[in-house]
Amino acid sequence: MFSADIITLFPDLFPGPLGASVLGRGMADGLWTLRATHLRDFATDKHRTVDDTPSGGGAGMVLKPDILAKAIDAIAPAGDPRPRILMSPRGKPLTQARAHELATGPGAVIVCGRFEGVDQRVIDARNLEEISIGDYVLAGGEVAAMVLLEAVVRLIPGVLGALDSRDEESFENGLLEYPHYTRPQTFEGTDIPAVLTSGDHAKIARWRHEQSLALTRARRPDLLKADLQRN
Ligand code: SAH
Repeated sequence: MFSADIITLFPDLFPGPLGASVLGRGMADGLWTLRATHLRDFATDKHRTVDDTPSGGGAGMVLKPDILAKAIDAIAPAGDPRPRILMSPRGKPLTQARAHELATGPGAVIVCGRFEGVDQRVIDARNLEEISIGDYVLAGGEVAAMVLLEAVVRLIPGVLGALDSRDEESFENGLLEYPHYTRPQTFEGTDIPAVLTSGDHAKIARWRHEQSLALTRARRPDLLKADLQRN
């Protein structure tokens, strides 16, 4: 079973959106588990300090390596097979491919940064894999961890109802998805494209592929280039 552990200064934020809809049902059905642990529980002084000023000066605070290491070691002792992830704008951008890898694994231990970030020595000493959810800076790693888990958990077998609805989704085949339509037949004067109501499944598949290609070319030519480089 996929088991997710979160280390955070805001455990009350979880499960949040991860408890809703299909992901929440998957959790209730025992397809995956989530535990959020308060980093402050591992502080050693009476003020329960978890951060300190940056060495070398500058603004903000940095999460202390000793306290974070203690939390990681308690939650994922040596031999725990789960990858240890640090949400970080400096990390490798999250991809659908990495989400698939994680979904087929035993789970993840996810550290949420706050303030200026985390002392580099604990990143190195505990071999934390830094993952970014995009080229912008959030106030903390909690929402980023939710994004990562939402992308991963919906890929766990049984969590989504219709398994094959996934294969054609954006990024699954290196392309953006084709446009969707549903009833009514006419909306504000515009009909559903005739091909989709033709009943000709080969033609529909071809049309959808062409739409996917055109959309990807227009909006994300970088995806097509990446695909050419792969092949
Ligand atoms: N000073 C850091 C930013 C700290 S933001 C820098 O310039 O790189 C505080 C925390 O928010 C980070 O430690 C990280 O856990 C989280 N965070 C911010 N932006 C993120 C992003 N794009 N992806 C993943 N986590 C992010």
